[in-house]
Amino acid sequence: MKAEIIAVGTEILLGDILNTNAQYLSKELAQLGIEVYFQTVVGDNPKRLKDTIFQAFSRADLIITTGGLGPTEDDLTKEITAEVMGFPLVEDLHTKELMEAYLKEYEKNHPQRRITKNNYKQTMVPKGSIVLDNHNGTAPGLIMEKKGKTAILLPGPPNEMVPMFEESVYPYLRKKQPEIIYSRMVKICGIGESQVAEEIQDLIEKQTNPTIAPYAKTGEVHLRITAKAEDEKKCKEMIKPIVRELKKRF
Ligand code: ATP
Repeated sequence: MKAEIIAVGTEILLGDILNTNAQYLSKELAQLGIEVYFQTVVGDNPKRLKDTIFQAFSRADLIITTGGLGPTEDDLTKEITAEVMGFPLVEDLHTKELMEAYLKEYEKNHPQRRITKNNYKQTMVPKGSIVLDNHNGTAPGLIMEKKGKTAILLPGPPNEMVPMFEESVYPYLRKKQPEIIYSRMVKICGIGESQVAEEIQDLIEKQTNPTIAPYAKTGEVHLRITAKAEDEKKCKEMIKPIVRELKKRF
């Protein structure tokens, strides 16, 4: 499965915040064995967001967006993605109940805050989508599937996005991915990258699964051994003999 990550938010383009969501998601998707070829950042602009989603879907089966699910007018990720995929928006009573309960609880500790009309924008969901509960905020996550294409929309704040990914998105993607990816890093110091590469050229040439990828670091060379199998236990078994062989050679 090919995936793309789209971070939505002008704040990221201005350099006000770092796109840690993309790093987190890329890492998780790599472990799931899902290939990520592009990460994009786009501002809160409807036309550019629409173009970005179209382009991502022309290259990938799965897009994961973060941000732009808030209650204000410039939060447009849900509206634009639903439009691109042809889903009408309908009110979701379960989300409405959760949102009201969350905000009432919040009001108790923050008496100056109140539920505003625009909060109800977040209770509208694409018809037929999978709604992911948000236990740490008000914007639900959404999964839309159509004609082999899937869009997963997640909130921007990492303290909302990460728990939602762990609770709902990971199990959803895991079911679609029969095999996971697991890596172990072997760190070598005292020899340069070219020498390491020469010593293991035969291993690199015949590699298929697990693969061996060298990375030159300051004063060290790292070898990432990556296996693809149905679970972590099987991956570890496949990696073990390679690590043993590397220890022998170095
Ligand atoms: P909310 O659910 O709070 O309304 P949202 O889904 O609309 O959020 P944004 O308004 O785009 O998300 O972002 C809210 C905050 O989340 C940002 O100010 C920033 O602190 C954080 N955030 C957003 N995108 C990212 C990102 N890609 N990486 C790290 N942090 C992010």
